[in-house]
Amino acid sequence: MPPKQKNELYKESARKKDVRTSNIEAAKAVADAVRTSLGPRGMDKMVAAPNGEVIITNDGATILQKMTVTQPAAKMLVELSKSQDVVAGDGTTSVVVICGALLKKCQELLEKGVHPTIISDSFSKAAAKACEILESIAIPVNMEDREALIRAANTSLSSKVVSQYSSLLSPMAVDAVLRVMDPARPNMLDLRDIKVVSKVGGTIDDSEMVDGLVFDQKAAKSAGGPTRMEDAKIGLIQFQISPPKTDIENNVIVSDYNQMDRVYKEERNYILSVVKKIKASGCNVLLIQKSILRDAVTDLSLHYLAKAKIMVVRDIERDEIELISKTLGCLPIAHVDNMKPEKLGAAKLVEEVEVGKGRVVKITGIENKGRTATVLLRGSNKMVLEEADRSLHDALCVIRCLVNKRFLIAGGSSPEVQMSMQLAHWSKTLQGMEAFCVRAFAEALEVVPYTLAENAGLNPINIVTELRRMHAAGQKYAGINVKKGTITDMLEENVVQPLLVTTSAVTLATECVRMILKIDDIVPTR
Ligand code: ADP
Ligand code: MG
Repeated sequence: MPPKQKNELYKESARKKDVRTSNIEAAKAVADAVRTSLGPRGMDKMVAAPNGEVIITNDGATILQKMTVTQPAAKMLVELSKSQDVVAGDGTTSVVVICGALLKKCQELLEKGVHPTIISDSFSKAAAKACEILESIAIPVNMEDREALIRAANTSLSSKVVSQYSSLLSPMAVDAVLRVMDPARPNMLDLRDIKVVSKVGGTIDDSEMVDGLVFDQKAAKSAGGPTRMEDAKIGLIQFQISPPKTDIENNVIVSDYNQMDRVYKEERNYILSVVKKIKASGCNVLLIQKSILRDAVTDLSLHYLAKAKIMVVRDIERDEIELISKTLGCLPIAHVDNMKPEKLGAAKLVEEVEVGKGRVVKITGIENKGRTATVLLRGSNKMVLEEADRSLHDALCVIRCLVNKRFLIAGGSSPEVQMSMQLAHWSKTLQGMEAFCVRAFAEALEVVPYTLAENAGLNPINIVTELRRMHAAGQKYAGINVKKGTITDMLEENVVQPLLVTTSAVTLATECVRMILKIDDIVPTR
């Protein structure tokens, strides 16, 4: 290979620069796309999928997830929002907006000739310092303080489409989490223990927390089986009550009517024996798992079950089994020979009730109820209902954050201004490029107050300057009161959010920026 000529080398480094620039540009474009939806006065997005499905949402993670992004660096922002969703559940818009602002600063620094590695290292230091600052202004919260938890849930819901219902949804989220939390092991909190059933019809006001269990499906009553059962003994079964199928390659050839009768008789006897065994265990309500191998129930087995006065709820999803068995205190039964009374759950009432346009099966008065909670969400149409579900999820996550890390901070961009101010202050103690980069980092954080003000229709420059002034004067909880359009003490306004949401937003955004900075080439593969 001939030695590289000088101009070739130059070309290569230009290409690296191009790759970095285009990555940053693409990522910034994604951040700009969700910027307008930040905060209580933020806009919502209507996401139209090619299949005609329409989603209305304010949740950053959902918007990005539905967006068709192909540029690899832009995809990293989608992932960033997703990871914030996993870690904290809320702050999915903020994290992307902060990342966008940091990237913009990077671009300026790069243009000034700062080496990417120096930017990356300084940002990492700045992020660590920012978290320290946040911790120093955080307020401890007690799990017994239900009001404080509700306030945090309110803040999370205030930016949602369904914000007007926060007085109903916030206490619901708090109570649901407190119900599933094991006081002895609070860190093992699993939000999957909270079942949310959405049902179209009525308004969100009609949503309720059910003390028991709700199934989205109706009771099977094609054969005239019962739809209401008092003093229920509930069996959760994973086996099928249908004749076994032959192997795929095998055929059974039936040549005359006699043989056909025999086949039918066999089938009848088989099903009858299964139903008898179920009845013998004392079970009077059957929850049957959906089966992909063969029909879980047939018309014939439903008929016999109805005759035995056994109520049937079919098509239970596999992933619901754990929650059901935990709630009812019953064990899933995989074979009919294991139908034992001790494996059944007991409840006062299992009943099919009318909810909105449809019907659901409700189990109430459960004996030895496990640590689970059920929320029945109602809404006038599918789009509202889905967004209500996502918003409730955010509120639940906020409470989970508080369980894991029991600190609150004020909202309304007061933490960001505080971080920005203190970081700028700290940068004066640093030297050289590092000081320069930390200062840029501090300035980037002001994107949050700027955007909140902008989205609320206020003058962002006035607001940000005023905020700076008040924070410098020691009012560390001063933030944007979007409702009144002024700056007030956010603690007095009860706008609080978990510490974890903001620390993870800053840390994850910085990590993402550092990753994008360090990329100098895109290698396509096939
Ligand atoms: P994210 O998806 O990041 O949670 P949101 O649209 O929920 O985005 O907006 C969150 C931002 O809005 C936070 O910075 C929070 O402090 C701020 N915020 C929420 N409620 C209020 C309020 N009532 N007044 C002022 N700011 C608020
Ligand atoms: Mg939020």
